[in-house]
Amino acid sequence: MSERAAMTGTGEQSMAKSAGKLTDLIRKDDPIVKYDEAQGVHILRQRSKPVLGVNQDVIELVEHMERIMRAANGVGLAAPQLGILQRIFVYDIGDGFHAVINPKILGRKGEQVGIEGCLSIPGLQGDVVRANEVVVKGMDQFGKPVRIRGEGMTARVIQHENDHLDGVLFIDRNPEDLHWVTSDDEGDDSPQTRE
Ligand SMILES: [Zn+2]
Repeated sequence: MSERAAMTGTGEQSMAKSAGKLTDLIRKDDPIVKYDEAQGVHILRQRSKPVLGVNQDVIELVEHMERIMRAANGVGLAAPQLGILQRIFVYDIGDGFHAVINPKILGRKGEQVGIEGCLSIPGLQGDVVRANEVVVKGMDQFGKPVRIRGEGMTARVIQHENDHLDGVLFIDRNPEDLHWVTSDDEGDDSPQTRE
């Protein structure tokens, strides 16, 4: 069985378990799965599974997710972007790090339009309509229940990352002015668009 098969969960359960820790599934070089890779679409289009139990394995995965998100100058990252089809996302828009496990969006209010990009589709940006406010519940990486009310950028990131867990990408959200940017074009504020 290929490593990629293990990552996508298409292999046998027993093999997935014997493979060890979740973090073992993260690629050492270039950890973020890209949409234009041969297997990228397949992985990014799947619906992730609920996390059944929060343990040391999950804590370590979240630590890796934080490190990889920051290294990529991202504001958010979902586990399937690392090839791990578990319902976990992390974000930090500049006011603190958050991990949400088994998130459920309880409510959405209002509307906002803002520029978005995705670490799995590097360089592509577009204006996406999102709810301006969301309430999400779930657990943190230690298993503690969390309930977060987010507005503006926080709400945008939560919706973008939550979509990843259902195999939905920002390009599915009818973005306007969809365009490619080169790294030279990106200004200081570009990290805010990477999720
Ligand atoms: Zn994304």
